Amino acid sequence: MNSTSEVQGVVREGPPPMDSTHSLMSTPIDMSETSLQKVILKALDASVDAFYLVDRTRMKIIHANDAACRMQGLTREQLIERGPTGALALSKSELEQTYDAIIATGRPAKPLEILRPRPDGPPAWLELRRHPVQIGEHWVIVTVVRDVTQAKQAQNRITYLNRVYAMLSGINTLIVRVRTRTELFDSACQIAASDGDFPMAMIAMVDRNLMKIVPVASVGMPADILRGLKERFASDEARPVGPAQGQTMAERAVSEKRAIVNNDIKHNPSAIYAKRHIEAGIRAMAMLPIAVGGEAVGVLALYAREVDFFHEDELKLLSQLTHDIGFALDHLDQQERLEYLACYDALTGLANRSLFLNRVAQYMRSAATGQHRMALYVIDVERFKNINDSLGQNVGDSLLRQIAQWLSRNAGDVNLLARIGPDQFALLQPVVQESESLVDLLEARLSQFSHHAFRLNDTVLRISAKAGVAVFPSDGTDADTLFKHAEAALKKAKLSGDRFLFYNPSMTRHVATQVTLESQLRQAIDNEEFVLHYQPKISLTTGKVTGAEALIRWNEPGVGLVAPAHFIPVLEETGLIQHVGSWALRQVIADYLRWRATGFEAVRIALNVSPLQLRHKDFIAEVQQVIAIDSAAAGGLELEITENVLMEDVKRSIASLQAVRDMGVRIAIDDFGTGFSSLAYLAKLPVDTLKIDRSFVVGMADAAQELALVSTIVNLAHALKLSVVAEGVETQEQSRLLRLLGCDEMQGFLVSKAVPIDSFEATYLQRLV
Ligand code: C2E
Ligand code: CA
Ligand code: CA
Repeated sequence: MNSTSEVQGVVREGPPPMDSTHSLMSTPIDMSETSLQKVILKALDASVDAFYLVDRTRMKIIHANDAACRMQGLTREQLIERGPTGALALSKSELEQTYDAIIATGRPAKPLEILRPRPDGPPAWLELRRHPVQIGEHWVIVTVVRDVTQAKQAQNRITYLNRVYAMLSGINTLIVRVRTRTELFDSACQIAASDGDFPMAMIAMVDRNLMKIVPVASVGMPADILRGLKERFASDEARPVGPAQGQTMAERAVSEKRAIVNNDIKHNPSAIYAKRHIEAGIRAMAMLPIAVGGEAVGVLALYAREVDFFHEDELKLLSQLTHDIGFALDHLDQQERLEYLACYDALTGLANRSLFLNRVAQYMRSAATGQHRMALYVIDVERFKNINDSLGQNVGDSLLRQIAQWLSRNAGDVNLLARIGPDQFALLQPVVQESESLVDLLEARLSQFSHHAFRLNDTVLRISAKAGVAVFPSDGTDADTLFKHAEAALKKAKLSGDRFLFYNPSMTRHVATQVTLESQLRQAIDNEEFVLHYQPKISLTTGKVTGAEALIRWNEPGVGLVAPAHFIPVLEETGLIQHVGSWALRQVIADYLRWRATGFEAVRIALNVSPLQLRHKDFIAEVQQVIAIDSAAAGGLELEITENVLMEDVKRSIASLQAVRDMGVRIAIDDFGTGFSSLAYLAKLPVDTLKIDRSFVVGMADAAQELALVSTIVNLAHALKLSVVAEGVETQEQSRLLRLLGCDEMQGFLVSKAVPIDSFEATYLQRLV
């Protein structure tokens, strides 16, 4: 207190009287100790910081300013009475030590931040600066206390927001590369811990069957808390769906579809296991619903060490984050559905051919090691096409399901069965005993089958089946061969009228009938007996004709039009397809150019390309040559290639398709959904259009699952910028649903069958001139 000379004036109580100014100025200032003290005390009271002057020896407050009284909510007398330890949660000896340490240095102590509870409102952050002042023998500690709550909060908010941002960007990188749900859940929790710096995190999903929440991933959770939560969620008290009393925060988040937050567990210990959470260092927690398609499917639980962590801004970012997780889940679900489709028959739920062959190969290995025989049966349902045509598709579907059930019951293990064609099934008998007679077994089984009463609506149906059998190892030592031989045996049985036949090598030699068909087809080529019929494709939005599919027919003299199913396989087997395919390609281009030349508003023509053509080394050159006829030719051509053909040799397919597409010819994937193996490839294939296979269109109107599947395919295609054509549309209802699902075009008997070119021109093409 030796700077007294700098004090320039005396402070009076109240304003100075105006008329006495002059006389005051002329009187010298009062510089006595008492006046100075008075000035300084006034000055201290003017400060917003609190000042405490403490006598170290007596450990008593000598003086506290107004701000100190305000901060503590006490009068000066009360404050002095309480003494210096009162304001701090320290014992007298602790405070003495602190003071002495400062006195020993003789210098102001480093500023210190403390969190102090306030009677009214949230705790305050205080910054303490302590200065030692020596007065004679004694030391006085001057403590200046500043309320830094607001600054501190602002700083915390920035830190918290940054943590949440870091987490959000971590999750966003995750969702583009993640392949499975487990990986998504585990990595999301890891990211919460590493990028979000949350000591604990958990994801729990709603199991709609159990109507319970099930924790699926977590980090940092003490085992007892996790176990407790699992038990609680699984208990009878669990109420995750719909508002109810006594729900946990996680259950509320799911049923109310909004974030549920507890920002101060210590002072609001309503959360379950609040005590254990507090012991584990948790002060705040938030339950954030994860939604897919407007439905809360789970919850992300985040636990923070900091009181008051989750504010509006954090929650906004976190809801974006859970939205992204939901998006990834939805995407994975769709992919799973497609992958399921690739292995299973959607109608019966049985394995499809490729999955079945995998299983056969596995069993074959153990049969080889165990040195036992194994039998593969291929079963054909007789008259199925008749039933389907006369009683309708629904009845046909229901019959197939019942047959699948009958076979499952009799096979004992559903994994030994597959549906391998519209009305064909395959069955594996993994162990055939030496003494066992397969003939007796088959006779018994086929007779049981033909006596079984299948009930369809009010009708009782009895149907029979034929079978072809191949036995490992004598009829084939790899799954493919064994299967083909069983199929050959079945084919022969159908021709010969036998109930079943065992494979024998002569069956795979050319059958006489095929030889005659082959020579007839050669003649047909020479006599130009093939014709192209055109089936219109129309836009589902405008109803206008957008294109045509060329479908080949054989106009056999004396017989009439023969459908391609009867001759294309033979054309392919004999290689004649190259010739007929070239002819069709030239014909399509010629027709298209003629439409343009004669004043029609020409539409693009889609031509089916056989896998054999696609694989031929001259195919690209041939397309190039044909479209070189006219600069408009490429714009009139689209090539339809079936999906499984593309998937067989993806690399080569991509190269040839790209070459064709570069010429301006469009590419469509035909029969989409029947042979799909990997979603990843679809994005890589240079194609323009997906044609949804007729089987999905048929099932769509009565099975929600099929409808969802078609919707998925449409969305997927659109996401990849492909247009979607539905095939085989026969009813108004199907067309209405397809329009609702956003499908672009349709084709089918509802509009028209494939018709000869002149009626196509007359009915579906506009005249421009
Ligand atoms: P695809 O490419 O899937 O052709 C569609 C088939 O479905 C056609 O049978 C068509 O007549 C039929 N279809 C169209 N709308 C409906 C409907 O609403 N309901 C039903 N039940 N069926 C409908 P099509 O003409 O017998 O042709 C069968 C297959 O033969 C074609 O299947 C295609 O793979 C092949 N094909 C036809 N023409 C050619 C060709 O010029 N070259 C090659 N390589 N293959 C061809
Ligand atoms: Ca086609
Ligand atoms: Ca098709």
